[in-house]
Amino acid sequence: MNQSHSTVVAEAETGIVPDADALVSPTGTDPLAVLVADCVPVVLVGFGAQSDHVTAVIHAGRRGVEGNIAARTVAELQRHGAESISAWIGPSVCGQCYEVPEDMREEVVKAVPLTFCSTRRGTPALNLAAGVGGQLEALGVSVKDLGGGGNPCTLENERLFSHRAVREGRPAGRLAGLVWRDA
Ligand SMILES: [Zn+2]
Repeated sequence: MNQSHSTVVAEAETGIVPDADALVSPTGTDPLAVLVADCVPVVLVGFGAQSDHVTAVIHAGRRGVEGNIAARTVAELQRHGAESISAWIGPSVCGQCYEVPEDMREEVVKAVPLTFCSTRRGTPALNLAAGVGGQLEALGVSVKDLGGGGNPCTLENERLFSHRAVREGRPAGRLAGLVWRDA
């Protein structure tokens, strides 16, 4: 998908690259990808009554979390028959590294209280992974970190791509979150 920090959820269609920040495969058989380098990548699997699988990916940046693109995506999965949903959250810039102006923190926290964070120096920051995780859990989604014991911070971990680290000389690139099921 062409990601633009929107709250648009699109349905996967072969050969089409939609302008969207979440993508749903009603059959689960379209391989879906989300690309990130500090934003939060989320992959989701919805299980239906006849063990049908519906899949989705979400690009959750500040605006996506503030506009709750996660809830829109969950609604699409449910519309396609998902009765229980699991989500996996991948590595992103951590709350202590994502410094923002005070008025921006205030605005986002008003919409999503769980995003409230401060840097190690005590300046305003946002924890987007906590925000989107809370939005999903509020809808009954089972949320897991990729890799189990918590995600490494993309800025602090040199093995990961970080948009913010490029100015420090780290290579530019994106991490991909992928989900599909065998046909
Ligand atoms: Zn960090």
